Amino acid sequence: MRKSDREQAPFIAEWAATEAPKASPMMAQYHAIKAEHPDALLFYRMGDFYELFFADAEVAAKTLGIVLTKRGQHEGADIPMCGVPVTRSDDYLHRLIAAGHRVAICEQTEDPAEAKKRGGKSVVARAVVRLVTPGTLTEETLLEPARANWLLALARTRGDAAKGEVGAFGLAAVDISTGAFEVCDMPGIALGGEIGRIDPREIVVPDALADSADVKRALAEVRVPVTRIGREPGSAERRLMDYFGLATLEGLGGLSQAEIAAAATAVFYLERTQCGARPKLDPPLSTRRARTMEIDAATRANLELTRTLAGRAEGSLLATIDRCATPAGSRKLAAQLAAPLTDPAAIEARLASVAAFVGARELRADVRAILKGAPDLSRAVSRLALERASPRDLAAVGAALAAAHEVARRLADDAFPSGPLPAPLAEARAAATAVDPKLGALIAATLADELPLSRRDGGFVRAGRDPALDEMRALRDESRQVIAALQQKYCDLASTKRLKVKHNNMLGYFVEVPATLGESFTKPPLDATFVHRQTMVDAMRFSTAELGVLEAKIAQAAEDALARELALFDEIAAAVLKEAEAIAATAEALAKIDVAAALAEIAAERDWVRPVIEASGAFVIEGGRHPVVEAALKASGEPFVANDCDLSASIAGGRIAVVTGPNMAGKSTYLRQNALIAVLAQAGSFVPATSARIGVVDRLFSRVGAADDLARGRSTFMVEMVETAAILNRATPASLVILDEIGRGTATFDGLSIAWAVMEHLHEKNRARAIFATHFHELTQLSRKLDRLVNLTTRVADWHGDVVFLHEVVPGAADRSYGIQVAKLAGLPAAVVRRARTLLAELEAADRGLPGGRLLAELPLFAVAPREAIASEPEAKDELREALAAIDVDALSPREALEALYRLKSLGEA
Ligand code: ATP
Repeated sequence: MRKSDREQAPFIAEWAATEAPKASPMMAQYHAIKAEHPDALLFYRMGDFYELFFADAEVAAKTLGIVLTKRGQHEGADIPMCGVPVTRSDDYLHRLIAAGHRVAICEQTEDPAEAKKRGGKSVVARAVVRLVTPGTLTEETLLEPARANWLLALARTRGDAAKGEVGAFGLAAVDISTGAFEVCDMPGIALGGEIGRIDPREIVVPDALADSADVKRALAEVRVPVTRIGREPGSAERRLMDYFGLATLEGLGGLSQAEIAAAATAVFYLERTQCGARPKLDPPLSTRRARTMEIDAATRANLELTRTLAGRAEGSLLATIDRCATPAGSRKLAAQLAAPLTDPAAIEARLASVAAFVGARELRADVRAILKGAPDLSRAVSRLALERASPRDLAAVGAALAAAHEVARRLADDAFPSGPLPAPLAEARAAATAVDPKLGALIAATLADELPLSRRDGGFVRAGRDPALDEMRALRDESRQVIAALQQKYCDLASTKRLKVKHNNMLGYFVEVPATLGESFTKPPLDATFVHRQTMVDAMRFSTAELGVLEAKIAQAAEDALARELALFDEIAAAVLKEAEAIAATAEALAKIDVAAALAEIAAERDWVRPVIEASGAFVIEGGRHPVVEAALKASGEPFVANDCDLSASIAGGRIAVVTGPNMAGKSTYLRQNALIAVLAQAGSFVPATSARIGVVDRLFSRVGAADDLARGRSTFMVEMVETAAILNRATPASLVILDEIGRGTATFDGLSIAWAVMEHLHEKNRARAIFATHFHELTQLSRKLDRLVNLTTRVADWHGDVVFLHEVVPGAADRSYGIQVAKLAGLPAAVVRRARTLLAELEAADRGLPGGRLLAELPLFAVAPREAIASEPEAKDELREALAAIDVDALSPREALEALYRLKSLGEA
């Protein structure tokens, strides 16, 4: 028997009493509730435990590593069961959610005593009060502090083919732990990138959308639970208006139909999972017009912005640079890195705040110290709104508001030596003090210094705050003294010191004596006072009439005191929620200040510079470094070699740098560092360089390092080609393209030909700024034909036949590939290295013997001037392509499909 099974006894009795051979009432209740939540593990409340039965029990026992027991029989077979104590259920929930499960929490909705009144076999009423899913968490113990907990809902509008409108996808991201709510719409092709930016914990897809090719493709990239839901009843507009108490949605700034549909899907799902409780949400804000750098999912993953390719936070750009003092700051920084801006003025505004803090070391330290002590305001308020808050959440609100005032006080107009307070910081300062100071004072005056985890435990209201409460407590405490006196009285009566007055849930107050003394209590004269209740192995328990009376009195006083405390709690919670909007602004302001100070901290620590951001085609980095590699090298005491990069565009387009050099010489590092510098700069951060001038990058593409994606049944080469296709189809002259090793996953000549053609296309068509690392030395010859192409190489020194990497990127092409030297460094057997050297010499000799010099001259590619080859593509076909691209195949009815075919045919013949 489990330790707490004693407390469970009445409920197990309930189970047994109602367990008729066939469908017992309790079993019927269980099955009825379970039937409504077939895809969730049902936490069925029985006293102090949540119990799981049947398959749920088997899954939970396996996932949690807890004992699977049996309880009774159902249809002739044992019922598997396991349970988790209610007091520790958060921990178990956390593990189940992390393992990808959903949990339905089913509570007792009446007092078991009430059920008993209806008859011995009555079942306690129960109902599911909440569905816990990864995207709808609010508990501090279940959330990752520094990560937003987005639930993402998708929707689609079909568009009107007759009017030439194409359908669009709507995305709604909502974080009920903070109330944040964002929406946007986009064509299906961009879904994957946007999902990558949002980085949700759970995705909700309406059944009707689940089979759409765009959705399938986008979801193939994600590794979070995808929940399908059926069609929501009623109109999307009405659902949103109801939720936010609006008469019209116009005030929300002209949301598109797709955005409204997605927002309504999100709200529908929330209402379902919260079983009627309404999380406090900000009105949905469209991010469509927030102009941000477009970064697709592959690029985001390759650059390891918020997670490494192995899926860990540690080692990502975010983890390396995050110096935020608060979790809310870390969440904001993550959002900024995920969506760098493209408006130079907006970027400058962020940079000005960072610069001010860089030049104010002491002030920065002070502000950061205050922020470090500030609790997570928005998450505490969201728990208050959902009535899941503890007294500690109330205290958190009070402490955070106090910190906000303190920060605002430190940010005086003349606080910065560099000049007046930058405008964004002045705005943040105003927002940080927007909440009525009386609220903070009220919280501080009400709450005790030591607070319980749950408000049900009571004892959180400060003595002296409420006279009525103080009186009830006095009564309760006085009774306790009376009990101590009673114990003394009984000891005297029985002439023993080995008698104790104790308490438990089953017996209430009772007298316990060692078994050896017990017998005398059942005989005169003691039996006149003591009534036998229980015989244990080594003790006997008795009740008395006086204890019974006292019990009732104490219980009443305690109950009254708790009720009074809970009323005070609700009163203050209501006062907090009344200020919810101002509090949200305060939380946002604190996060902004935190991010600015944190970015200043890392800039000062690592000697970063303020980038110059322009609306031009410039890209000039001097002394650039890779923030993550540099940090890793520093940890092992090695220096990082800084390198320059100039990809500045002329009128014809951006420059393309072709980097050749041996493996391990630092090519990938160089490529990524320049992309990361662009991301950091546009996110509003200083950058790891001695100077940086960047013309705003509209889209960033990166193909770095081939990774087999066998789980999705794609080979390295296929993945590489899919990503390359995305780049060539979407890069503009304002884009930055990083390509590492195109065409290596196939036969040499195939690969070389593809790489060659890709470069020509980038140079002539996309005209983007680009860096291209390659092992095909032959590609360096392209600089003779493509005028904006420059060759760079990573310098190495040959030290007695061994290669030494200098990690320096200089103009020019690699003279040879050093592959064999690197293989030797890697520990290939000496005999293999020797044999490879001989073979290489033979191959090179044969190559030189070919007419025309090198093998490459055989390639037909050289024969056609690239510009002509591309320019000669008939332009008329583009119109046809555009029309084709505009068709959303999934959204067409058979009739519309036929019409589209006719339209295409007429375009093709024109
Ligand atoms: P491969 O072609 O095999 O992918 P690569 O030329 O791309 O190799 P990187 O992966 O960029 O080489 O770099 C290899 C290692 O060299 C890095 O992990 C790092 O430790 C070191 N390195 C790279 N660049 C520098 C630098 N600028 N300064 C110091 N060390 C560097």
